[in-house]
This record gives sequence, C-alpha cells and structure tokens, in this order.
Amino acid sequence: MKFQPPGTFRPQAGNGYRLLPFRFGRLPGRADEVLITGDSGRFVFLPETDFLAFAQHRLDPDTSLAMDLEGLDLLHRGGGPIPLERHVVAWRTRKAFLFDGPSLHIFVVTLRCHHSCRYCQVSRQAESDAGYDMDAATASAAVDRLFESPARQLTVEFQGGEPLLAFARIRGIVEDIVARNRSRRRAITFVLASTLHGITGEQLAFFREHRFELSTSLDGPAALHNLNRPLPTRDSHARTMTGIAAARAALGADHVNALTTLTRASLAHPEAIVDHYIEQGFTSIFLRPLSPYGFARRGLARMGYTTGEFMAFYRRALTHLIRRNLEGHVLAEAYATLLLSSILTPFAHGYMDLRSPTGAGLGVLLYDYDGAVYPSDEARMLAAEGDTRFRLGPVQTPYRDLMLSEPMQTLLAAGLTESLAGCADCVFQPYCGADPIDAHARQADVYGHRPTSAFCARQTAMFELLFGHLREGDPDVMRVFQSWVQRRRVAEIRDESPETTHAAA
Ligand code: SF4
Repeated sequence: MKFQPPGTFRPQAGNGYRLLPFRFGRLPGRADEVLITGDSGRFVFLPETDFLAFAQHRLDPDTSLAMDLEGLDLLHRGGGPIPLERHVVAWRTRKAFLFDGPSLHIFVVTLRCHHSCRYCQVSRQAESDAGYDMDAATASAAVDRLFESPARQLTVEFQGGEPLLAFARIRGIVEDIVARNRSRRRAITFVLASTLHGITGEQLAFFREHRFELSTSLDGPAALHNLNRPLPTRDSHARTMTGIAAARAALGADHVNALTTLTRASLAHPEAIVDHYIEQGFTSIFLRPLSPYGFARRGLARMGYTTGEFMAFYRRALTHLIRRNLEGHVLAEAYATLLLSSILTPFAHGYMDLRSPTGAGLGVLLYDYDGAVYPSDEARMLAAEGDTRFRLGPVQTPYRDLMLSEPMQTLLAAGLTESLAGCADCVFQPYCGADPIDAHARQADVYGHRPTSAFCARQTAMFELLFGHLREGDPDVMRVFQSWVQRRRVAEIRDESPETTHAAA
C-alpha cells in the first residue's frame, strides 16, 4: 500500500460511500432488527433490510438514512478524504485514561479483620494475628512509587482486612503523602474501605481533615447483612449503621458510600435490598456479584449462583429501582450507570475493571502489607491463595521497572478487547473491557474463552438488558437512565429527548 499522509486514508468506495469500522448484532426477541455500533461508541438500530442495503453499499447516499449513518461515524459519503481528525478526537476521548498512567493506588495496611465473612475475597487474618501489618519502610517505598506514577490526579485507597486496625499506619502514610505533595502538587483523593465498626472520634477528625471518602459494605436489611457478615455478637448490621451515622455526622453524607455483595441468600430479596438503601439515605447502590477469589472461591458451591440466576435478580432490582426513582427517590445502580455512561456519552469512565486496554497495572497499582506490588486487588487475592504470577515485584522496584515487568507484558498482550477473539467482533466491544486476571482466575487462561466465560455471559446479559430498554425508549425509563448518567434528579430530566444523547436509536 502506498504511503498516504494522515487525514487522507481512502478505503475502497462502494455506491457513493465508504463503510467505516462497525460491529453488529441482534438482541434477543428482535430477530428482524440489527444493532450497529461504531468505534466512537455511537449506535443505531436498523431494520434487517436497511442494514443489508447499508453493508452491501446499496444505500442511496443522498437519503436521510445515509446522512444519519454518516453522523454516527458509520459511513463516509462521497470520494473526499475521510475526516480522520474527527475519529481521532473520538478515540482520544474514550481512551483518555491512557494518558494518565496508574491513578488508583491501593495500600493494604493490614490483613487483620474482626469479621469472618462467608464471601471474603482477601483471605483475611484474625484480629490478634501478628505479622500481617505493613511496616514503615514498606509504606515509605510505596509512597515513592505513588509519586513516580505520572497521573496528575491520584486516588489513594486504604484497604485490609480491616484498615482501621492499622490506623497509625494510615495516619503515617497520609502525613507522608501530604508533606511530599507540597512540592509535587498532585490532586489527591483519599479513600478508606472499612466496616466502620468501632470508628473513633479521633479517626473521624483525621478523615475529615483530609477529606476522605469512606466506603463500607451494606448487604441489605439486618437479617441478610448479619447472615453474610457474621460476628460472634451477631450485630454486624447495627455496628455498620452506627459507623455510617458517625461518619455522616463528621464528614457529610456525600462522603460515605456503601457496596453490596450478593450471595445466594441475597437473590430472593432484590426489592428489600433496594428499599433498605433508600431508607438509609444512600443515592447509589452497586449490586455486585461474588468474585471467584479468596474465601469466596471455597464457598461458591454454598453461596454461588449462575449468571442466569444473577440476571433474574438484577432484572427485578432494576425494575424496582426505576419505579422508585420515578416516585421521586434518588438511587442509581452503579454498574448500570457505568455502562450507560459508556453507551450514551463520548467519555471514558473511571472504572478499572471495564477498560481496554485493561485497567490492571495501567490504571491501578496495589501495595500489599508485605511489600509486594500487584496490578490489581484481584491479583493480590490470587497471590494470597499461592498463585503469584501477577506479582510485579517488591515495592522497592522503581515504577518504570514495575511497568516493564514480565506480568505487565502478559497483561498488555491479553488486555485489549479490540484484539481478543470473540470480543474483537462483538457488537458491545466499544463499551466493554478486558480483565485478563479475572479470565485467569475463572478459566486458567489470561486470554479467556468468551463462549464459556461467566464474565462475558454477564456482560452480554447486562448490555442486552440495557440496549433493550434503549430500543424500547420508554420516556420514563429514559429519564431515569439520564438522571443516573447526569447525576441529576429525574424531575430535572423531564424535557430531554433521547436525540440529545450521544447515540441515535
Ligand atoms: S467480554 Fe463478551 S460482551 Fe464484552 S466485548 Fe468481549 S465478547 Fe463482548
């Protein structure tokens, strides 16, 4: 092929227009209609006959349909140069996270915990066990790595075990970061993932001073939460609610978030779980399925469920959430919001598990209590089970060498949906992500096998559910979805039509 300067790429023309890269598929129950998605993330539903005319170059380029498809970056009319700059901007916007490098830095300050959760993913240790706390030298080296990464905006997250059991180490790390940042001048957000049980006034004052975001686990009403998260005193839910109230009083409600983890016992109660979050004044709920790591892997037979069972739960929960939001309550489902943001806006989202290239290592670095560095939380969970293949190196290793390490090469090779078998031609690929560590954990193969992948099955089911709603276009459902994406109340979305979105349907 002859060299052509940028902006003048000329693929073969057909009947007055050229096709731009697209993928296509059909939703369940809509066999005579085709969903088309482009690299820019724009999409359209076409009747089968129009789709065939479009793909076979039989469309009249002067029709409104051809013009609409050009507006969606699916074809280019005429023989002039394709405006590559426009496509470059779309790509650069959707992949903007690549310019930053790792922006999420997780410090596992201790593995000790006072809970013995049935689904624990991190192989926690008993509260009194010695030797599971991060020492000062490890903490200092981890802060070195933090400031070597190029991102201007950094999130520093403290995890455990129960990180409050090592509060002195958290304090030391934060003070070290704040002192060094006087000259580095990064924008830093601190996050604590904690049960909040027994949180003290001194700790809350410190978290307020440094504007922490607090994240806790709330699995639903008391009976369900206490079943999933047992304590000898059987009052985990009451302690969590006490911690949430204290944290809200000290930091403000906007700085306290909660996550659910769903066991088999949870699946019968979607409405009760949603209503409990509303009653407790939360504005977001993340309906997370179990992960195949740590103690959760050993308990999968007892607590686990199929993708079909999860999606039956999720559909009921989503229907109930939509109803509740239309009644005036404000509660967004976090995973649906992530996917809808990717579908309905041109922007990248910050969710590490759903990026291409993968967020593992490229977006996240984790410093374990013992001085090992991992590309994600899941990689350290595997290491706790004896599988250390994703360990990037000891924390004293310079950032550059960590990023050039053998495990990173593996993750980069397997972490691109644009080139993975099955994903490369999947209609949902522009909105999906690659997770080689999850693929290895589930299928013993970093590349994964899409037809038998539980991750892919759930992603496909989620996309089919959301695109099904987008195709139906029920104005009330669209308002709820837009309110989640735009972080506004449903009442403020009243006058907006679907045509104002990123896509056309
Ligand atoms: S994981 Fe599945 S749903 Fe996601 S892009 Fe790959 S094939 Fe499509």
